[in-house]
Amino acid sequence: MKAARIPAYGAPDVLRIDEFPQPKPNPGEALVRIKACGVNRMDTELRAGVYGGQPLSDFFFGKNIELPHIPGVEPAGVIETTKVNASNLVPGTRVVPHSHLSCGACPQCRAGYDNACAEIRVLGVQTPGCGGYAEYFTWPAKSLIPFNDALSFEQAAALLVNYGPVWFGLIDRARLKEGETLVVTGAAGGCGHAALDIARMSGARAIAVTRSPDKVAALRDAGADAVVIDRDGDNWAESVNDLTAGHGADCVVELVGAATWQRSLEAAALRGRIIVIGSHSGLNVELNLGQLFGKNLSIEGITRANRSAMERLVRLAEKGDLRPHVGHVLPLADVAEAHRLMDADEHTGKIVLTMD
Ligand SMILES: [Zn+2]
Repeated sequence: MKAARIPAYGAPDVLRIDEFPQPKPNPGEALVRIKACGVNRMDTELRAGVYGGQPLSDFFFGKNIELPHIPGVEPAGVIETTKVNASNLVPGTRVVPHSHLSCGACPQCRAGYDNACAEIRVLGVQTPGCGGYAEYFTWPAKSLIPFNDALSFEQAAALLVNYGPVWFGLIDRARLKEGETLVVTGAAGGCGHAALDIARMSGARAIAVTRSPDKVAALRDAGADAVVIDRDGDNWAESVNDLTAGHGADCVVELVGAATWQRSLEAAALRGRIIVIGSHSGLNVELNLGQLFGKNLSIEGITRANRSAMERLVRLAEKGDLRPHVGHVLPLADVAEAHRLMDADEHTGKIVLTMD
């Protein structure tokens, strides 16, 4: 089969398309023919060997990566064969994988927080030789989620990695409600679009923050009620205050990290909830504790979604309640260009690779 591989850390042009042996499913697994795969920051950072300006090997998900590596955390495809008896997983069934495997037995897993399992293995990260930038992958059948043809493969490949942590953070944890205001930093990316879509579905008012004035129209189309431009020297938190008559944001979803962190704290309302999902602009920030307790703020870090949230997201997208926005579709052969688009922040919405 054809697959993209990272032979060594570096710029997008290190990516190579090569022939690999087609994987064989073990008992309990399915072989899935991949039709599309989402491109994520995790992939580009894994390729560069750098996360948030620090060596990937310093970061928990960057340990024990074996090169060459097949990346891709978000494939969608059809079951080719299975080594399991399950009537809902016959050959031809359209599936997406839960994006991680967990131990199922630790206190976190038993409490329903399998996304916080210490033994977690993320597809395309801690699964040597198995990733979504390929024509096939194998995966435990019990960790596959079938979806119907209301969703395209490209949409299905634009769902779990972005919507997953945003849903888990904003809905399951921060309890974002109708009538509340949500601020989304880094709103033009895949997680940003997911946050705008989830706010729309929840009846919350969404304020998108972006550094790119040319992305304002696309952000409004994606569901932003207002767009604030983060210009050097300006304080976008003041714009959020103006837009909310001094109230501030009930929730902030922090997708950028060090570059937006201080303004996110300032933009948060009294008893505001700040959900931190990404920090690719830098990991180390300052925190004024007086600001934290003086405003009764809550800050929570989220990695991925748990299994039940992922299943719910697929059902909501099938019904059209959530509408994954695919901004760019490229063939697998153009994988380096897909990474260049993301590195340059030239994309709007999700970048998806297709295999046919
Ligand atoms: Zn566990």
